[in-house]
Amino acid sequence: MMKARLIIPAYNEEENIALFYEEARKYLVYDDIEFDMLFVNDGSKDNTLEAIKNIEVKDIPVKYLSLSRNFGKEPAMHAGLVNSQDKDFIIIIDCDLQQPPALIPEMIQYYREGYKIIYTKSKSRDGEPRLRRLFANLFYKIYNVYTERPLINGAKDYQLMDKQVVDAFIRIKDNNRFIKGIFSWVGFKRKSIEFDFIPRQHGKTSWSFYSLLKYAFNGMNQFSTILLVLPVLSFVLGFMVLIVDIFLYIFDFYALTTFIITLHLSFIILALSIFSYVIIYLLYQNRKQVLQRPIYLIEEASEDLQVE
Ligand code: UDP
Ligand code: MG
Repeated sequence: MMKARLIIPAYNEEENIALFYEEARKYLVYDDIEFDMLFVNDGSKDNTLEAIKNIEVKDIPVKYLSLSRNFGKEPAMHAGLVNSQDKDFIIIIDCDLQQPPALIPEMIQYYREGYKIIYTKSKSRDGEPRLRRLFANLFYKIYNVYTERPLINGAKDYQLMDKQVVDAFIRIKDNNRFIKGIFSWVGFKRKSIEFDFIPRQHGKTSWSFYSLLKYAFNGMNQFSTILLVLPVLSFVLGFMVLIVDIFLYIFDFYALTTFIITLHLSFIILALSIFSYVIIYLLYQNRKQVLQRPIYLIEEASEDLQVE
C-alpha cells in the first residue's frame, strides 16, 4: 500500500474548504494508495481553521496544521512538506478550486510510469488581469536570462512530488523560500499537464500587485544573479559617455580642459561599475556558501551501491 497526501495551503478560505474537500475526495480513492489531506492554515483571519475542523470527513481523512500567523504561501507549503516525509508522494494544491483536482488521476498515471515530478501549467494567461499578465511574462523573460536554471512560464505550484523530491526540497534550507526556483533547481524526471485558467468562485486572491512584485524580486534574487545587470548597465552608460566625449572633443565642441574633466568623470563611472560588479559577484559567491544547498542530488543508483 502506498501512502500519499494532498497538501493544501489555506489563507482566508472559509468558503472554499468544504467545497474543496467534496471535490477533491472524488479523485483520491485507489486500491493501492492510501490518501489523506493536510490543510495548512496560514494564519487566516476568517474561520478557515473552524471550517477545516468542521469538514464532514468521509472516505479521505483530514489533518491540519495551523501556523501561528500569516507567513505566506511558500512557508505554508514548506511546513506541509516537512510534515509529510513519511508519504510515498504528495500533491500540493490550492484550495480555491482554481487548480482542478480532476487532474489527479492523470498525475498518478504518470507517477506510476516513473515520473518523479508531475507539474501543471496553465495553457494561457487569458482571464488574468492584463497588467499582471504583462509583468508575469516580463518576469519570466528577465529571470531566465540571469539564471542557470530557467523557470517555465505559467507553471503552477500544483504538482505531484515523489518522496525523493520532497526530501530534496527539504534539504534546501533557503530561509527565503522560492518554491518555483527550488522546483527547477532540483531536477528529476518530470512531466507537465496543461489546463485552462479557472476563475476563483469564492473569496479573493491574496496577491496584491505590490506583493507579486515583491515575490518576483525575492524569487529572482534566490536563484539568479540578476543584480549583476546593474553594473553592466552603468558600464555601458559610462562607455557611451566616453565615446560622446571623445567625439565632442574631436569636433571641437570641447576645450581641452573640459575634455579632461569629462574624461575623468567617465573613467570614474567605468571604474565604479567594474568595482561594483566585482563586489556583487563576490556576494553571490558568498551566498552560495551561506545557503549550503546540496552539492548534488541523486535520482538513481545501482542497487548494490551504498550512496551518500
Ligand atoms: N495562500 C496561503 N498563504 C498566503 C496566501 C495564499 O496559504 O499568504 C494560499 C491560498 O489560500 C490558496 C493558495 O495559497 O490556497 C493560492 O493563493 P491565491 O488563490 O490567493 O493565489 P492566486 O491563485 O491568485 O495566484
Ligand atoms: Mg487562487
